[in-house]
Amino acid sequence: MPTYNATGITLGAHKYGDAARVVTFFTRERGKVEATARGIGKPGSKLAAAVEPFTLSRLQFAEGRDLDRLTQAEVLQGYVPLRQDMRRYAYGAALLELTALTTEPGQAVPDLFEALVAALAALAGATDLELIFWAYTLRLLQTQGNAPEIEHCVHCGARITGQVWHLAVEGGFVCRDCSPQSNGRAQVSGAAVGALRGLVTLPFDRLDRLSLSQGVRREVGRVIRAHLSYHVSGELRSLAFLDKVSRAKGRSDADLS
Ligand SMILES: [Zn+2]
Repeated sequence: MPTYNATGITLGAHKYGDAARVVTFFTRERGKVEATARGIGKPGSKLAAAVEPFTLSRLQFAEGRDLDRLTQAEVLQGYVPLRQDMRRYAYGAALLELTALTTEPGQAVPDLFEALVAALAALAGATDLELIFWAYTLRLLQTQGNAPEIEHCVHCGARITGQVWHLAVEGGFVCRDCSPQSNGRAQVSGAAVGALRGLVTLPFDRLDRLSLSQGVRREVGRVIRAHLSYHVSGELRSLAFLDKVSRAKGRSDADLS
């Protein structure tokens, strides 16, 4: 059977018989790849580490009639901190689920692959995990052509300065001249638009340079969630888990203060 090589991140796996898994990878060369991996439960399995979520590996597949088969794997990076810390895990799982939902087999998206590698590396070490999640979400929307337009008013094309109104269905923001009444649109401050610009331009390991007030954070979070739910169909289970973990952290921070 013909074989091929790819570098990929494991998005998820489910059991298939006693010792096999069906594993979903996001690869640099071929986009999403679904493949069987056999002998996973056996001691000394060389493939076992590579089927764990988050893992970055060099992979070899054999083409199959239905599903391809994972034949070799060399782990390049395991992002171990993501498995040891509930919040890092929750944010990482959200990145993987978003990627799985929005990519297709056979369609490589090299920019998104590089962004996912950088985002997972940043999640393993950073303190401000929310910024990494937002930055990745915006880059994912960008690769689909669905990122919010943050430079110009989507009605008149004027350069955006100061306060604007956001509507996901219109693909971005409307300026004050075009929206004298809010008409149900969410008001967004100039500082929040500035934060969105930082999120799409700063490298993942420099995102901590953005120092956002709680108010700006709320606005940015609202814009990104609204955009996501409009453009990404399907239920994002990991986001509900993320919210639960974040609320639990909020409570424990309050206990400490
Ligand atoms: Zn306008």
